[in-house]
This record gives sequence, structure tokens and C-alpha cells, in this order.
Amino acid sequence: MTNEELWQTALNELELAVSKANFITWFQNTSIADRQDGVIVLNVPNAFAKEWLEYKYHKFILKALRNLAPDIRNVEYIISSELTPLLQKRRRERSIAPHEEQLEFKEFLVDRETNLNPRYTFDSFIVGPFNELAHAASTAVSKNLGQAYNPLFLYGGVGLGKTHLLQSVGNEIKKLNPRLRVLYTTSERFTSELVSSMQNNEASSFKDKYRSYDLLILDDIQFVAGKVKTQEELFHIFNSLYETGRQIIFSSDKPPHAINNLEERLKSRFEGGMVADIGQPEYESRLAILKSKVLGKENYINQEILEFIASSVQRNIRELEGALNTVVAKSKLSGKMLSIPEIKEVLDKNTQPKRIVTANQIIKCVADFFDVNEKILFEKTRKKEIVKPRQIAMYLLREDYNGSYPYIGQRFGGRDHTTAIHAFDKISKELKKSSQLVEEVKRIRELYEYNNVN
Ligand code: ADP
Ligand code: MG
Repeated sequence: MTNEELWQTALNELELAVSKANFITWFQNTSIADRQDGVIVLNVPNAFAKEWLEYKYHKFILKALRNLAPDIRNVEYIISSELTPLLQKRRRERSIAPHEEQLEFKEFLVDRETNLNPRYTFDSFIVGPFNELAHAASTAVSKNLGQAYNPLFLYGGVGLGKTHLLQSVGNEIKKLNPRLRVLYTTSERFTSELVSSMQNNEASSFKDKYRSYDLLILDDIQFVAGKVKTQEELFHIFNSLYETGRQIIFSSDKPPHAINNLEERLKSRFEGGMVADIGQPEYESRLAILKSKVLGKENYINQEILEFIASSVQRNIRELEGALNTVVAKSKLSGKMLSIPEIKEVLDKNTQPKRIVTANQIIKCVADFFDVNEKILFEKTRKKEIVKPRQIAMYLLREDYNGSYPYIGQRFGGRDHTTAIHAFDKISKELKKSSQLVEEVKRIRELYEYNNVN
């Protein structure tokens, strides 16, 4: 079977497993880019689709593929636009054999041993006043592992470059000395690995593994808050690494002292080395970052456009990149460079506040997300797989639509307003405890923003 046939057959199966809307939204324009050693690399149209496929459909996809080819072990996802410019560039430079072309895909793949994405390097990181300190501390650490600042603790809001910087240190270390043991992971993955190691009576191999690294990078450490067992294990691993001069790097959305439900002894460990923040980039830095990302997009972007984007998108770097990509995508569609008013319109649409959403949209997005029929949310059933989406929908109607409790109760099959209050309280409380729920709610909101722009 060719890759194309394989994927087409898998798609036929997937189409039956998910709702039609989801199928069209997420599976359109996907293809197999590469297949090697039991690993399938799927080509996906954009970062958003990549996240969704990884997050929500990975298991289905893997299963569908395995049914057809049992040797398939894993599926990885890659954004087509990241792929093409490089391939085109190489093609221009010299003609390449198909086999070599396939190797190019690997350049973008996360390394299996370290979890590092080769895209995140110091070279591709733009330094400005807003991230100078964090950058200086990171380079110092990469030159003097375990000795400059240990631990290094970086904090800042979303999309400001924490993960990029953290991984740059890891990639730099691997480049300088490939034999050093490096691991990048998120605190959520750390937690779930710990939990499953305990369930499988493999706690001691978990400990041994984490004590073996020369550089351990733990991203988004704020998510260990409130998790007693994880914090305890982390504390011991930290001590063991620290005492033997190995380097630990953390990131978080806030400084150690501001993380609620974090043990004092961990706070003081986190603060014991260097704590550096990443702030919001000012105009000059935003422009410099945009300039660094236009390679291969020159046909659709000029200086004026860059300046316009830099001045209108201020919140964070991920949004800045997103705006640039949106403008390029729209330009490609219309086959020409857009005018400033056209760009303004495209960006305005994209940055609409998420509160502009109707009750119907919220309910539809929740139903889509959980792959349940909208109507069943209104029925009396108490099945767990229905109760949860229903409560989340009620919560969002309150939060994002400002619906009154009686209205929300009515909307869900004439229930009493106390049911709506109960749902709201329950989800609010859960959100403080469960990072998974936080993630789910975030994705649902992304979904209605996404539906708005399309
Ligand atoms: P965070 O982890 O803080 O949420 P990320 O590291 O994921 O943010 O950054 C979001 C996006 O912005 C990434 O694509 C990253 O490569 C890019 N980015 C962030 N900071 C910079 C920078 N200083 N220079 C270039 N790109 C950056
Ligand atoms: Mg991050």
C-alpha cells in the first residue's frame, strides 16, 4: 500500500469515528509526509490543527493506522508551511534525491531521547529589553552547566518565549556535548509519568531515570501546585540532582512565591538559584521578531506590513507569529500582497474578544469537543460522559455569555436555576484542581474563536 492509499483508507475509518464537522475541520488537507521505522509523520495545514490532532485525535489516528499496518508504532505531526520553505530552498540550492528529501523532515521532529524540538535555538531567539535577563541567564547556564545558576527559574505570561528559551539551552548543550544526558518535559507529563510508574510498580525506575540527567528542564512547573505526591517526588529528585552538580531549569507563569498550593520547601529551592522574568516585548522587539520570521514569505510581506503588524499585535509573541501567518495565508489565497486596510480587517477579525459568542455557539462547540450530540445535553440523562459536557456548557454560558442562572437552566431542558448554579460552582472548583479541565476549557474557547474567524 502506498502512503497515500494508507492514509485514504485510514481517513475513511476516521470519518466514521468523529462528527462530520470535526472531520472536515481537522482532517481536511492532511497527508502522510513520511513513514519510517514504524513512525508516520502527518502533514497538517496549521499549528492549530496540529495541536488538536495531537491532543484529541491522536489515539484514534494511531488505532486506525495500526489496523491497516500493525508495524506502525507512532504518529507525529508537522505543519506543512514549516516544511515547504525549507524544501523549496534546498531544491533551489541543489537537486536532491527523494531519500534525502525525506531526511529533511527529521529536522523538525522532536528528538525522541531528549524531547527537544530542534527549532528552538538561541540563533532563532531575538533578544530585547523585555527578555534580556532571561536570555543572559540561559546562555550563562549553557556555558557553565550546573555552575552558573542552579536552578534557573524563568517566568512570564503565555506566548512570551519561555519554552523557546528553555529548549535553546537543551539544544545548545546537546550540540556542545552530545553525550550529556538532557531531558525536556512539562510538569504535566512528569506528573502523569509518575502516576503511571506507581500504578505499574515501577516507581524506582522512574526515580532512577530522573536522577540520571545532566540537565533536566521542567516546563510550566506551576501545574504541580496542589499535587502532593508529585511535589514530594520532585523535591527528592531536585535534591539528588542539585547535590551532584547537575543542572535544573524551570519555567512557570509566575514567580515561585506567587504559586499557590506549592510547598514552602519547593518554593525556597526554586528561589535558590536565579529567578528571571520575561516581560512583554515593546514595539522595536516585536518588529525585530517579525523580521526574523519572514524568510520565505517575502512575496506577501513588506516593511510597511511588518510595522503595521508589530504595532497592532501587542500581547505576546505567539499571537504576533499567528498574525503574520494569517496575513500570509490570506495573501496566498488572494494571490497578491494585501493592502494595509485589508490586513487591518483580517487582524481585527482575528482578535475579536472571545466574549462575542452566542449561546448556540457555546453549546455547539462543547458538543463538538466532546463528540456528543447537542440534543442529548438537554435530556435528563445522568451518564457521566454527558453530565460533564453539560456542566461545562452551563459554566461557559455563565462566564462567556453572561447568561442568568434561570436562563441557563431553561436552556438546558427546563432545569431549575439551582442546577445551573451547582454546575457553575462545580466546574469553577474543578478548574482550580484539574489542569486537564483547564486545558479542555481553553480548547473549547479556542474552538469558538476559531469558528468565528472561519
Ligand atoms: P511560552 O512558552 O512562554 O508560552 P513559547 O516559547 O512557546 O512561549 O513562544 C511562543 C512562540 O513565539 C514560539 O513559536 C517561539 O518560537 C516564539 N518566540 C518567543 N520568543 C521569541 C523570541 N524572543 N524570538 C523569536 N521567537 C520567539
Ligand atoms: Mg511554553
